[in-house]
Amino acid sequence: MKITTETICPEYTRYHCENHQGFSVDVLNLGGIIQRITLPDGTDVVLGYDQPEEYLHNTFYFGATIGPYANRIQGASFQVGGETYPLAKNNGEHCLHSGPNGLHQKNFLGEIRWDRLVLSQEITQEECGFPGVLQVEIHYILGEDNSLTLEYHAKSSEDTYVNLTNHSYFNLDGVAESPCCLSHVMTLHADEFTQNNQENIPTGVISSVAETPLDFRNPKTIGQDIRDGFLASPKGYDHNYILHQNKENKEIARVQGTKTTMVVRTNSPCVQFYTGNFITPHLGKSGVSYGENSGFCLETGVYPDGMHQSDFPSPLLKAGDLWQYQTSFHFL
Ligand code: BGC
Repeated sequence: MKITTETICPEYTRYHCENHQGFSVDVLNLGGIIQRITLPDGTDVVLGYDQPEEYLHNTFYFGATIGPYANRIQGASFQVGGETYPLAKNNGEHCLHSGPNGLHQKNFLGEIRWDRLVLSQEITQEECGFPGVLQVEIHYILGEDNSLTLEYHAKSSEDTYVNLTNHSYFNLDGVAESPCCLSHVMTLHADEFTQNNQENIPTGVISSVAETPLDFRNPKTIGQDIRDGFLASPKGYDHNYILHQNKENKEIARVQGTKTTMVVRTNSPCVQFYTGNFITPHLGKSGVSYGENSGFCLETGVYPDGMHQSDFPSPLLKAGDLWQYQTSFHFL
């Protein structure tokens, strides 16, 4: 793949990564944000903004790297080694996506290393409340098969909790062409999900998807059951699925739109499926109107709120150990 670097202004840089088929991905140093994923026919399939500044205080987290810990942390605090670590309350009494000063707001350092773009950054306890200093590297790798692989590498100076993900919203009919993703046909290879309470915090109960609208083991449109009463509280899908079979980057999801089919592979234990229920009407790239259900996210990672749930595997990362997962999005 070929990578070109564009300095937008002294703070912001855009990396344009392109393979020989004309498939390209634009990444900003701000938040490691995926600004565009462009198919060889020119169709852009992710929501976003034209200017980096528009991503500052972007409450939808379009395209951004989320960390140190994605999703909600109950009560906006946790304990490690008997010490309590308070976090920002940016979602009622809870902390969502690590608060306002998470990785999504940081300027990363970019480097072209071999065949890939590597963005690196560290985040400290003073900035976002998590213990010590977390060093993060995200590798963006384009395949000649029109795939984008994201590799996450993280190491902490102290014991801490880590859950890194990317928050891209996809619309496989083209974001400029279609305002809604509900006609996409999805298969999601997951038998179980983690139940949430009314505030979208896991209760600790793991349930079967069988006979619920969450069952995507056979292909169906995203919209087919989205107005079912079962999904009334998060106004649609906003659920964490468990990927039991998942050890070797197996296919976990396949989503078919009119312009492309996207196959997702990962070795992460979980994926949050979110249908953009809380996107308020506003303008995005090239003045296109966005709103509820304009795009969907498949946010791979570990168990949400895992530090508070004794029935979930512990997400503790010991000081000096490597946290490493990968996810690929393959456009057929
Ligand atoms: C969460 C949603 C939240 C959204 C913010 C998703 O990862 O699951 O509940 O509203 O991020 O954009």
